[in-house]
Amino acid sequence: MTTDISKTKTEVGNYFVSNYPPFSQWMPEYVPSAIEALDQPPRTQDPLGLYIHIPFCRKRCKFCYFKVYTDKNASQIEIYLDALIKENEIYSRTSALQGRQLRFAYFGGGTPSYISEKQLHYLVDGLHRHVSWDNAEEVTFECEPGTLRKSKLETLKEIGVTRLSLGVEHFNDDILEANGRAHLSPEIYRAYNWAREVDFPQINIDLIAGLMGESEEKWRDTVRRAIELEPDSVTIYQMELPYNTVISQEMIEKGLDSPIADWPQKRRWVDYAFEQFEARGYQIASGNSLATAKKDCRFIYTDALWHGGDMIGLGVASFSHFSGVHFQNVHSFEEYVSLLDTDQLPLLRALAMTPRQMLIREMVLQLKTGSIDREYFSRKFGVDIWKEFQPVYELLEAEDLLEREDTKITLTRKGLLQVDHFLHKFFEPDLIQVRYV
Ligand code: SF4
Repeated sequence: MTTDISKTKTEVGNYFVSNYPPFSQWMPEYVPSAIEALDQPPRTQDPLGLYIHIPFCRKRCKFCYFKVYTDKNASQIEIYLDALIKENEIYSRTSALQGRQLRFAYFGGGTPSYISEKQLHYLVDGLHRHVSWDNAEEVTFECEPGTLRKSKLETLKEIGVTRLSLGVEHFNDDILEANGRAHLSPEIYRAYNWAREVDFPQINIDLIAGLMGESEEKWRDTVRRAIELEPDSVTIYQMELPYNTVISQEMIEKGLDSPIADWPQKRRWVDYAFEQFEARGYQIASGNSLATAKKDCRFIYTDALWHGGDMIGLGVASFSHFSGVHFQNVHSFEEYVSLLDTDQLPLLRALAMTPRQMLIREMVLQLKTGSIDREYFSRKFGVDIWKEFQPVYELLEAEDLLEREDTKITLTRKGLLQVDHFLHKFFEPDLIQVRYV
């Protein structure tokens, strides 16, 4: 058994591991287990998160694999906001959510910043009638730079956003244009400066290594410009090609070679960015993120989810995780809206995890931070993970991808940069080869 690092080309397919068991195992016939979890008495001591999905964008990026809408008018958007408010209200009536406090809220997309200030106020007022994030530790809001104005950022501050996440992706205008981004670099600088003036507690910027047209020189320049902005944290993705991106479809239809740099090259670029940010006092927070050491920049959303925390996802195709049950909403805009119109939760599919699946899920997700503690798993699951998964850990250790010291298992830099490529080795045997999504 060897790891797959010999596979070097960026081919069509998913590599990023964001959950377990694979999404392909979630089924419509398991939806009753989600309803059952919501019917249980509330665990009021346990924190809860809320995810709010805004699926609208100005333009579809060529690398995008989300279901997004670029053609909805204001009245359709308002219908969708009403559906979100209704969905939140239905959840607020369930037994398991009585008295539960929100620890975090996350507005993701799509492009949450696409909606207007008036729509934003309408949405937030509607959601707050049934659940409040006034005492939450973190409220994240994803933004596309070209959709921002200073007054919209002031509105975001007013509604309690603590962590603003700017989808910069790259600073080179030719690359932004070639990859179908709606914004160019002047809009990044304008939005970033306004966000600093409005003074959010934390500003994150997203970058992607390996966009179409990437070169050594352009990447180094992007890293330099990102550092110059002094963001509080930075997230750096390695470009991948899931099936439903425009790029993947063109490759399949026209039999084209991958226009994306190979994996070792992308890892070198991320490694370079890590080195540069570390030299300016940033600390690695995970295989794809760093945060400044100057202040507390924890990312509570991933921290909670990767430790098994509950999260309710509102919106079309949104994912939830509650009391050990995964569930996902329907994919169609029309179906989502019409189910809520008739007062029904718009659930498409679900999966109740076994205790072993919960253990594997937390272990693979926490490995993405670069270091895990065996004692945490002994306490929570009664399992010594090293012994339980010894052949896999020893293989990864032999390949210089991780090290063991006392109770800690720590990824080497080489391991951290390709962590998503080997996590599937910990999956249950019958789930290693299945489709991920
Ligand atoms: S902005 Fe984000 S969600 Fe919208 S099309 Fe681009 S990648 Fe997809």
